[in-house]
Amino acid sequence: MNKIKKNKAGKLVFADNLPRGLKIPKDAVGQRILNEYGAIFAAQGGATPPNKIVFKNETQVSTFQKNIETTSEFIGGFELELQTPAMEKLKAAINEAEQSDLTITPRGADSAKRTYAETVKLWASRVDPGLKHWVEMGRLSATEVAEVRALSQFEQVPKIFEMESKGMFFSKDLSKTIIYSVAPPGTSQHLSMLAFDASEHENPQAREILARHGWVQTVVSDLPHFTFLGAAESEFNNLGLKKVIDGGRVFWLPDL
Ligand SMILES: [Zn+2]
Repeated sequence: MNKIKKNKAGKLVFADNLPRGLKIPKDAVGQRILNEYGAIFAAQGGATPPNKIVFKNETQVSTFQKNIETTSEFIGGFELELQTPAMEKLKAAINEAEQSDLTITPRGADSAKRTYAETVKLWASRVDPGLKHWVEMGRLSATEVAEVRALSQFEQVPKIFEMESKGMFFSKDLSKTIIYSVAPPGTSQHLSMLAFDASEHENPQAREILARHGWVQTVVSDLPHFTFLGAAESEFNNLGLKKVIDGGRVFWLPDL
């Protein structure tokens, strides 16, 4: 997103500034995914946003990951890989935190880069127990479960959303939508290596330090998750993002 396009009123339009070849999806699931995870397409500061709204398979992910400059570092006992500008700013935030006797550390080994296979495995780790539960509750038949299982992981997404619209939820505690527990396969910002899950996400000071270095929250359903947008928050309105306050936290979402 190098050349920023504005409409006649001089306002930047999110949809007009997606990476080349990307358009706002027409289907409800695609729109929901863009709304949920799409702030990443406004990333600046030398970051390369993903070239797809949904990566369909491992080849698409690994091709994207191979063609961008990345850096690996040991942080908090884990080896993490991110796009180089995102890693540099994360290290700067960690250094700034140290000066205030704070830490910023990853939640686990999968807190930065993920592969397509890892996102598929995470998705299945919620779908499988959910299906089992709703069969036990008498809400789903064995035939319906077999139909879901016959679909590719990504084809399962609209099916799961449809079941959730009928009150059969798939989050870890089965009380909320699955996206509170896991991103649909191929949609995770971790695939683009511009995401970091911080242990200290509940500390407002840690969030402020991360934000000063371009790392902000963009996914309302995922509290430990930070996205590298590589710009100051004062610039975000001008990048087609809108500010949303939820649970006392600031999130930046696509202004669709
Ligand atoms: Zn995350």
